[in-house]
Amino acid sequence: MILAIANQKGGVGKTTTAINLAAALSLRGRPTLLVDLDPQANSTMSFLDMATVGPTMFEAMTGEGGTTISTIIRSTNQPHLSIAPARIALAKLEAKLVGELDAHFRLKEKLAPLEAEYPYIVIDCPPTLGLLTVNALVAASHLVVPIQSSYFALEGTDDLLETVGKVQIRANPSLQVLGVLITMHDRRTSLARDIRDQIQKVFGTKVFKTVITKSVRLEESPAYKEAIFSFAPDSSGASEYYSFSEEVLSRV
Ligand code: ATP
Ligand code: MG
Repeated sequence: MILAIANQKGGVGKTTTAINLAAALSLRGRPTLLVDLDPQANSTMSFLDMATVGPTMFEAMTGEGGTTISTIIRSTNQPHLSIAPARIALAKLEAKLVGELDAHFRLKEKLAPLEAEYPYIVIDCPPTLGLLTVNALVAASHLVVPIQSSYFALEGTDDLLETVGKVQIRANPSLQVLGVLITMHDRRTSLARDIRDQIQKVFGTKVFKTVITKSVRLEESPAYKEAIFSFAPDSSGASEYYSFSEEVLSRV
């Protein structure tokens, strides 16, 4: 299973979801690969010290010097969880691949040989609908859309689903929208409840039953280079992201 975590809206919880979903899946003891496809490299920084990071997804996607994803993969402090790191250079990929016939298919081609080794692959996407996100949608078997529980939550989801539709028609007919995950929910406010109802109205059964509530622990854990399960195993964030991983597995 290759899961893309995407929403072109910034700061909605993509990275938090990608790192903790990948960590939750790895708790099952099966090799899990987190692919950082965002030039901001937030997933990478959540596990690795950037000063120790060598070649990244940029070199793997361009194939520079014979680099493949296998050669850039690093282990993390979480057993069974590996990461294919990114750095800011990834922002230049789009310009680099202009005119290449396989520009949209690069990630799919590069991940194909790894699928046997990693039953779970999770891709953290940047907040754009550009070439990187399209590569993730072409490579993925399933899409998870995190939506922040906020007044402007649904803004932009039409554009995302339009892009998904185009990818399904032209490049990846088997791509499934697995569901929409409500993040940063505040159970205390009635506004948050209204927003949740509104998201439910638009997406119906696509909305995951698990809701990720606001949690300082989830915000803190990247600074300690840990996923939530080792950083704060008894926190709401840990139990919610574990439930979410079970719901993901029940839907695939
Ligand atoms: P970008 O679009 O920039 O890549 P993103 O969609 O990946 O952002 P995150 O980086 O996961 O979003 O989250 C944005 C901010 O909100 C971060 O500071 C993160 O720690 C915080 N955050 C995410 N989820 C929660 C949560 N459930 N509770 C509290 N803070 C959260
Ligand atoms: Mg992010």
